[in-house]
Amino acid sequence: MTRLSKRSAATGKRRLHRRRWRSPGKEKPSREELLQAAADEAQLNGKSLTAIRKHVLNVLLEADQPLTAYEVLDSLEGVGSVSPPTAYRALDFLIHLGFIKRVESLNAYVALDQGPSDLPVAFFVCEKCGQAEEIDAADSVIGLISTVDNKGFGVSHASLEVRGDCRGKLGCDTWADTAAGHAQSSTVDEHSHE
Ligand SMILES: [Zn+2]
Repeated sequence: MTRLSKRSAATGKRRLHRRRWRSPGKEKPSREELLQAAADEAQLNGKSLTAIRKHVLNVLLEADQPLTAYEVLDSLEGVGSVSPPTAYRALDFLIHLGFIKRVESLNAYVALDQGPSDLPVAFFVCEKCGQAEEIDAADSVIGLISTVDNKGFGVSHASLEVRGDCRGKLGCDTWADTAAGHAQSSTVDEHSHE
């Protein structure tokens, strides 16, 4: 049995709780609902959503793109201990709680604005604006895990990230604007490279 299937077979309470967020036709929860849900979920696990953990979740929910651990660390100024272990511990806690994910190819973290998921989450990652959005690809991810499982490998973790151009859907100019810009010999956007 894989660690993954053990995790998804967690307590009935947890499964019910998560299904609540991901049921078809469910509206996107508000930031306040997600913060409250994270506090409830922590309590179900015998833990608590401390001020720092809550702050980190809030920062990620408010962010318009995935944040690196160092950006999260910077946000702790005036809230709590500004040390890398504090930031990483809070991020790990929120990952295990199911409310945030690490976007591996960006080495950054994103809050799940649809709430926790029992299944591995897939992302589209824009190579131009650095934004990421969860995509509904549960069947593909399950298929991938099954293939690996059937080969006899033990799966502990799966991630599916598709990279490309958001074409204006996330943070870039729209596809039409970009095409127009190319037609007019536009200047290179130097300040976008640090
Ligand atoms: Zn983009």
